[in-house]
Amino acid sequence: MLIKPFPQVENIHPVAIPLPGYSDLITGNVYAVGKGPLTLIDTGPKFPGSLEFIREELELAGFDFGDVERIIITHGHLDHFGLAVSIGEAAGHPVECIIHAEDKWRVSRENLYGEMWSEEANNLLAMVDLPSEEVKKIRERFSFFKELCDPLDNVSVMEDGDEFFGDGYHLTAIHTPGHSPGSCCLYESRQRVLFSGDHIIKHITPNPLMDIKRDRLRDPHYQSLKAYLKSLDKLNGLDVRFVFTGHGEHVEDLPGIISSYREHHRERMDLVWKALKRESRPLYHLIDEVFACVPEGDTFLAISEIFVHLEMLINEGRAELADPGPPALYRAR
Ligand SMILES: [Zn+2]
Repeated sequence: MLIKPFPQVENIHPVAIPLPGYSDLITGNVYAVGKGPLTLIDTGPKFPGSLEFIREELELAGFDFGDVERIIITHGHLDHFGLAVSIGEAAGHPVECIIHAEDKWRVSRENLYGEMWSEEANNLLAMVDLPSEEVKKIRERFSFFKELCDPLDNVSVMEDGDEFFGDGYHLTAIHTPGHSPGSCCLYESRQRVLFSGDHIIKHITPNPLMDIKRDRLRDPHYQSLKAYLKSLDKLNGLDVRFVFTGHGEHVEDLPGIISSYREHHRERMDLVWKALKRESRPLYHLIDEVFACVPEGDTFLAISEIFVHLEMLINEGRAELADPGPPALYRAR
């Protein structure tokens, strides 16, 4: 067991798939909910052995894939939907897959197998002044990721407030954009359990990822970190006993972890602001000063992190775009 065991909760069967070498996510968590037929929340990525791992864990709980009738996907990242097609095939009958409408395009064949490297991505990387060898590394990493999932040709959509019933459970979707525009938590009211996807994670602060494909957004003014902080507010006052997260261990103190996230983002904004105060520069040249160390392969995450904090600093009037570039030059105010 890589993580502390989950608390036992009636009609909820957690499956924590080990994710060796997958950054610092530790496990990809899948939850089977109900007495059967089952609803699965997320699927984990299509790693060698992952499907078998879920099968064995379901058997321990007295089920098999044939009991799965629907899969609710918390958001459109491959570590959450990668195995959906394989699970559907293993079930031997149609399994409905559901995702928030704003993330539907991410799981599509067109997105996963089409022209993966968009014009928007090139423009963005020129804007941040990323050296060409780093662009190459990011492109390679993105292609590798796409091997860890199958596209979903048939997927239903959910919206905030949608409810899903079954024997022994009642789930309500809470739209919590930020990590991705279509990210959702699911609240199980009988057991007072919140399935948080990547909106809440215990051992790392979730990334409100910058969104490159702006034409896919409902709100053209969408900003990830702004949306993320607003989505944290949305969980205020919710009666939650356990948060079952998308990766790693469960959380018991939801208000406590929310305030630690707020503090983290406040500190990171100050760090970016101080770096700019020392010297106005394009985004890529802020990385070394904001992060003590960026692991190989995580450059895109570092760029995204600084970008979303810059957006907030600009909102607050503490920074400005001095020259739109490319490369774009930012300065502190
Ligand atoms: Zn994830």
